[in-house]
Amino acid sequence: MREERSHSIEEAQEEEEEVQEEEEEVQQQKGMQQQRRGGDAEIRCGKEEPAARIHRSDPPLRDRLPEHISRHGGAEILPEPEAGLRGPGRVWFWIRGRADEPLDEEGKVSASFQKKVQSKIKDLLQQMEEGLKTADPHDFSTYTGWTGIALLYLQLHRCSQESSHLQRALDYVKRTLRTLNGRKVSFLCGDAGPLAVGAVVHHKLRNTEESRDCLDRLVLLQSSVLSDSDLSDELLYGRAGFLFALLYVNREMGEHTVEESTITQVVSAILDSGKSLSQDQKKTERCPLLYEWHRKQYLGAAHGLTGIFYMLLQPGARVPADVLSEFVRPSIDYVRHKKFRSGNFPSSLSNESDRLVQWCHGSPGVIHTLLMAHQVFQEDKYLKEASDCSEVIWQRGFLRKGYGLCHGTAGNGFVFLSLYRRTKERKHLFRACKFAEWCLDYGTHGCRIPDRPYSLFEGMAGTVYFLSELENPEASCFPAFEL
Ligand SMILES: [Zn+2]
Repeated sequence: MREERSHSIEEAQEEEEEVQEEEEEVQQQKGMQQQRRGGDAEIRCGKEEPAARIHRSDPPLRDRLPEHISRHGGAEILPEPEAGLRGPGRVWFWIRGRADEPLDEEGKVSASFQKKVQSKIKDLLQQMEEGLKTADPHDFSTYTGWTGIALLYLQLHRCSQESSHLQRALDYVKRTLRTLNGRKVSFLCGDAGPLAVGAVVHHKLRNTEESRDCLDRLVLLQSSVLSDSDLSDELLYGRAGFLFALLYVNREMGEHTVEESTITQVVSAILDSGKSLSQDQKKTERCPLLYEWHRKQYLGAAHGLTGIFYMLLQPGARVPADVLSEFVRPSIDYVRHKKFRSGNFPSSLSNESDRLVQWCHGSPGVIHTLLMAHQVFQEDKYLKEASDCSEVIWQRGFLRKGYGLCHGTAGNGFVFLSLYRRTKERKHLFRACKFAEWCLDYGTHGCRIPDRPYSLFEGMAGTVYFLSELENPEASCFPAFEL
């Protein structure tokens, strides 16, 4: 399938290419550094990355300060990493005392920043609606298609309580329900997404019969989830992605909307599959639950182990405590030990390159699992590690790949919202705001344009979703993933 190619084999090829590019870049920079020794002033901020530079030919910094600051003086310029940001090829400064600081004195998102965010949301929504006129009419998926757009309007309704948003969600849901094809079962890429979102939208509109119909069809998918031995377990295409749909419906419509036995059977299938591969690979001592996708043992949230563990840790999945401590916890600890010194995680067990920092591969996905592990096992080491690992996202998470959720800046910004929710630390909310600020300049960073530029997981809808969370960061929730 096209979408499978776009996120598995092509992604893997892309990874390889990126590693090569990275190596060439580093070699080139080594050469340049030798030539320039004593020449350019350098600011080094990360141990393992090429440093960003200010060239002597650049205009003096004071000329680039906002007028009111240079006129009145007293602004303090702090180089990162203490308080600054670095984007690709640029050095960013945070200027203490700026009038447009995103947080107010109480540490909440300031009214002026909220205003800017709201105005950008309006602007991007318009662009998105215009752009969607030429989008693939048959793509019903949450990941790149119409269900993702319905999910965005559900979120906007949650924020504003405006009935027009709920109506919009219904329009998109109706469109998706006409085009299901029965080929896949996950929330993000299969029929479970449209059916679950359809059940929720109809439920909110009190269309009981239509909601029931969607639910029945969703639960019917269970037989293929259990019987298809070729089905993977990952979140994007596999059983964990179906499990998410069940848990999502229970969260939105009430705890027992989907019967406990339905959930338990899916969970058992995921556990059996993980135990079986671990045995085959003789890893039962170190990693008692092991999973693979296209014969590669990925670690990230979309295709990998941590996305599956994240679902198994959900209280709604009702995994017994002894199974959690005997199987899930040691497997999470096994992944933890694969961490790079930078705080990032490899994309798979066989990949040694510290390259990808995005929700689908690397720390930005893994951190959510560490936070869940902290919640479930009540051990501080998980929270500390989640916080420590987020530094690599602060340093390298402003991506040239775009502004989306899966492998873009918005998805990385969600890490700081989740950390803030758990810790209530001002630092994390500040950082989430700086990721949002980057998104406010949508399209000005020379980023790559994704294949589905308006979609929820690759494009603009995901950016709008992330921005909308700033209105109430305490209740933020990464769509199709967090519960
Ligand atoms: Zn991705």
